[in-house]
Amino acid sequence: MPTRITHLISGAPWQGTAQRTSPVYNPATGEHTGDLDLADAALVDEVVATAHQAWQSSWRSSTLAKRSQVLFRFRELLNERKDDIAALITAEHGKVLSDALGEVTRGLEVAEFACGIPHLLKGGFSENVSTRVDSYSIRQPLGVVAIISPFNFPAMVPLWFVPVAIATGNAVVIKPSEKDPSAVNAIAALWAEAGLPEGVLNVVHGDKEAVDALLTHPLVKGISFVGSTPIAQYVYETGTAHGKRVQALGGAKNHMLVLPDADLDLAADAAVNAGFGSAGERCMAISALVAVEPVADELVAKIVERMDKLVTGDGTRACDMGPLVTRQHRDKVASYLDAGVEAGATLVVDGREGSVDADGDGFFLRPTLFDHVKPGMSIHSDEIFGPVLSVVRVGSFDEGLDLINASPYGNGTAIFTNDGGAARRFQHEVEVGMVGINVPIPVPMAYYSFGGWKASLFGDTHAHGMEGVHFFTRGKVVTSRWLDPSHGGINLGFPQNT
Ligand code: NAD
Repeated sequence: MPTRITHLISGAPWQGTAQRTSPVYNPATGEHTGDLDLADAALVDEVVATAHQAWQSSWRSSTLAKRSQVLFRFRELLNERKDDIAALITAEHGKVLSDALGEVTRGLEVAEFACGIPHLLKGGFSENVSTRVDSYSIRQPLGVVAIISPFNFPAMVPLWFVPVAIATGNAVVIKPSEKDPSAVNAIAALWAEAGLPEGVLNVVHGDKEAVDALLTHPLVKGISFVGSTPIAQYVYETGTAHGKRVQALGGAKNHMLVLPDADLDLAADAAVNAGFGSAGERCMAISALVAVEPVADELVAKIVERMDKLVTGDGTRACDMGPLVTRQHRDKVASYLDAGVEAGATLVVDGREGSVDADGDGFFLRPTLFDHVKPGMSIHSDEIFGPVLSVVRVGSFDEGLDLINASPYGNGTAIFTNDGGAARRFQHEVEVGMVGINVPIPVPMAYYSFGGWKASLFGDTHAHGMEGVHFFTRGKVVTSRWLDPSHGGINLGFPQNT
């Protein structure tokens, strides 16, 4: 019997009856485990009003000491319960438990970063900018902000934003993915336990109707969105047209360039880890391996050798890779295998073959490898978002760099080489927001900022780090004169510093 999953408003489960619900599955077994309440525009309106009231009446004026106390408590609670949250992620997303725990830990690091909010919010002060006049800058919260997150990191992506938004004094409405909503509900309960005042964080579940209501609501001042590129673009355009500050992180197609002087064992390990980890459902997954000849044959052989040892199955068991998130997504990814063959690529390892370690009727596709992939084939141009790795053979560093820069996406990339000069030229010339040098998934630490270029991010500001603090605050500069006004009489000229 599926369990009901509902909104959390002011820390309490919603008591109403939903007009529409959405099924939640265990992707490893295919079992229908939950029914998620979907919010309509009227409910979104109610939740935003609750958040605004909490912001207005308390949180916007809360002391930095109070905010950091809540953050420290939240950090401790999240650390204590991270195994429970990882289990929820595996049950609804399908990724293996160790990977689920890894994403909670990366989210925890953002909470740790936000614990330093008294330091992060320090402004500037200039004494005597003019005679007895001082000037200083402060940053203030936006008000109610909305966070709309994707299915692939049901804990980490929400945690990229929520701790920073709360630490900077905003009230938050979060709308998680409808495919794996339970991790956010569990994390929201921890915020309440940590002492966050009621109404400062609310979870509203839903689909396009709820998102549209958030994008157009006059009391929502900021939107942090993460998802596929077409929806990110829509969210950016709609949100900004309604006067909101928007950061919309989109899709990706990440390339890994392997030069002939690279350590090929290191490169093969990295390609397998970054290509098939989380079944390729990572925005920083490597989906195209660009091999500079003459290394391709040797590299492909090393990758196949490693793929042979991978165990695909139920993420609660001792497996390397779990299922895809839904049956529909699994079928879509599998359709690219036929498309690649039809386009003329060589299907070296076919993920539709072989067994999986799972019971029931899960959404599995084993790791797949294509060779001799050419630009223009859909397996190269599309974001497949599954365990499909494509090898593109090129003749030189420059050809590889041009191929990467021709991509409409610019989220992550990596170069494998032992040539420092080549690596330095790559980091300088590649048009991608996050670059790895002999590192396959260059996800920045919490105190740096996460974000891609081109169609991988709409807006100017990246997530977390100082860019996150800036996104969730507005700057204000105060110019003040005290005690001795030394009134100089009427002067309609523009004030000058004397
Ligand atoms: P998605 O775009 O389908 O959904 C993302 C969010 O948008 C969800 O909350 C969903 O409910 C909502 N949504 C879906 N359709 C909508 C519509 N028509 N109108 C308004 N809202 C809508 O993405 P997904 O499948 O959940 O996640 C995978 C995608 O996210 C991939 O493209 C991946 O690259 C991307 N992603 C990017 C990053 C990044 O940092 N750039 C990080 C994680 C995931």
